[in-house]
Amino acid sequence: MIVAKRKPFNEIKEYIQDYKKVLITGCGTCVAVCLAGGEKEVEVLNTELDMARKLDNNPLTTGTITIERQCDVEYLEKLDDLVKDYEAILSMACGVGIQFLAERFPGIPVYPAVDTTGMSVNIAVGWYEERCRSCGECVLGWTGGICPVTMCAKGLYNGPCGGTNNGNCEIDDEQPCAWFKIYERLATQDRLDNILKIKEPVDWNDQIPRTLVQPGYKKPEKATQE
Ligand code: SF4
Ligand code: SF4
Repeated sequence: MIVAKRKPFNEIKEYIQDYKKVLITGCGTCVAVCLAGGEKEVEVLNTELDMARKLDNNPLTTGTITIERQCDVEYLEKLDDLVKDYEAILSMACGVGIQFLAERFPGIPVYPAVDTTGMSVNIAVGWYEERCRSCGECVLGWTGGICPVTMCAKGLYNGPCGGTNNGNCEIDDEQPCAWFKIYERLATQDRLDNILKIKEPVDWNDQIPRTLVQPGYKKPEKATQE
């Protein structure tokens, strides 16, 4: 899932210091699960901002709402009437949701209240580790299911580099070398010949922004030409 963490309070407060009416929007999916931007976090931020602004003698009127997903147009409709009453929006969704909100309401400044940190797995309660950076050309089939983009400090598609050191990465003695792990995994599966195959560089031409239309949703050619 997408994981995020709340921005430092003073940064959020500074964003909205010149506004008197602000809508705080949470997202009920990934950021709710990782306790960064769901309903509870929206209410906590709301209370903190209210207190801070009262202490500054600069009272703030806020509204709060948490929608199912800020990255889905279907759920944004709920906000259409509501946002008219506010000068700015604070979004607690991931970067995707924040941008989608800003696109839908171009006349209203939208500010991020969280920092998106990646696509991660849940290792333990409240502990997330990144596993994918959406490179668009997944090589997990070659690397024994270990992602070199997120795990290797240099994001090498062909490795290891000269810095691998007794199984660890040159950046830190406690950080396993991704390519050592890949070697071990491939050896276990008797697929070590994979490591000798050179992967082509990623095609970065297709990255601005990458779009995907699942085949089942593509319009027939005739309909597209109309
Ligand atoms: S190689 Fe890594 S970053 Fe790229 S798609 Fe696969 S898991 Fe994601
Ligand atoms: S030592 Fe391993 S993990 Fe570190 S940069 Fe080199 S190949 Fe990547």
